[in-house]
Amino acid sequence: MIFRSKVIESRPLTPSAHMIRVEKASGFDYEPVQFCGLELTTPVGVEEYPMSLASSPTQGFLEFGARLSSSSWKRAFAGLRPGDEVEIDGAYGHFVLDPDRDAVFVAGGIGITPLKGMAKFLADTRSPRRSVLIYSNQSQEEIAYRDELAAIESGNRRLRVIHTLTREPAGSGWSGRRGRIDGPLLGEATAGLTEPTYYLCGRDALVGHVSGLLVGMGVPTERITFEVFRGYH
Ligand SMILES: Cc1cc2nc3c(=O)[nH]c(=O)nc-3n(C[C@H](O)[C@H](O)[C@H](O)COP(=O)(O)OP(=O)(O)OC[C@H]3O[C@@H](n4cnc5c(N)ncnc54)[C@H](O)[C@@H]3O)c2cc1C
Repeated sequence: MIFRSKVIESRPLTPSAHMIRVEKASGFDYEPVQFCGLELTTPVGVEEYPMSLASSPTQGFLEFGARLSSSSWKRAFAGLRPGDEVEIDGAYGHFVLDPDRDAVFVAGGIGITPLKGMAKFLADTRSPRRSVLIYSNQSQEEIAYRDELAAIESGNRRLRVIHTLTREPAGSGWSGRRGRIDGPLLGEATAGLTEPTYYLCGRDALVGHVSGLLVGMGVPTERITFEVFRGYH
């Protein structure tokens, strides 16, 4: 389905990421959580980028979050204001939640977008499945959706959110985990889950690193799914 939609909210998520919410056209539906082509008018013409939905199908709007850069599409995205129109083509993709299994979500940076939507879906549908979200960022200020993830976690006692930071300055007051995602973190986070499906999302380095760890831990490859945000240079 292709439709034009009005922006209803546009704001920074972190110093290097931005989000928009747009109206959901009647009749538009998607699985938790597919991606769309998001077409914007930029200084060089009309450009479409694939963007994961960051919302859940249980919500009455569509949401997208993007890591910013100097590209024309990203500058146009960050410049969107309520009332502006965008074109949406979707939804596509097979990186979708299996609602019948426990889930381990592993996100790096802006790779949180579809995984937030999946976690929100589990909470809104009062799923009996247990889930863990491991979210890796360089620093505290780069954690996207921090408050919203905390709200989703507090509304779903079967979800646990674990942040880990790789470059947070010492003495910053961060009392959470530090360092890259490793085997012990994955093992501890998933203890008590029943044969979960793993959902990895982010840039190829993160997805490659974590899928390698999981295979090394003996997780069957059919339970490892991923979406790689290709396109970054
Ligand atoms: C299924 C899917 C879902 C995605 N979801 C997200 C998301 O939720 N959030 C997010 O931040 N990113 C997402 N991406 C990646 C996104 O589409 C961009 O490729 C990425 O954000 C890099 O864009 P950029 O302009 O900052 O690239 P830069 O690193 O600035 O690249 C420089 C140049 O490369 C070209 N380029 C890069 N990416 C694209 C593209 N996709 N299409 C056309 N030309 C391109 C442009 O000419 C650009 O000027 C997703 C990708 C896929 C495949």
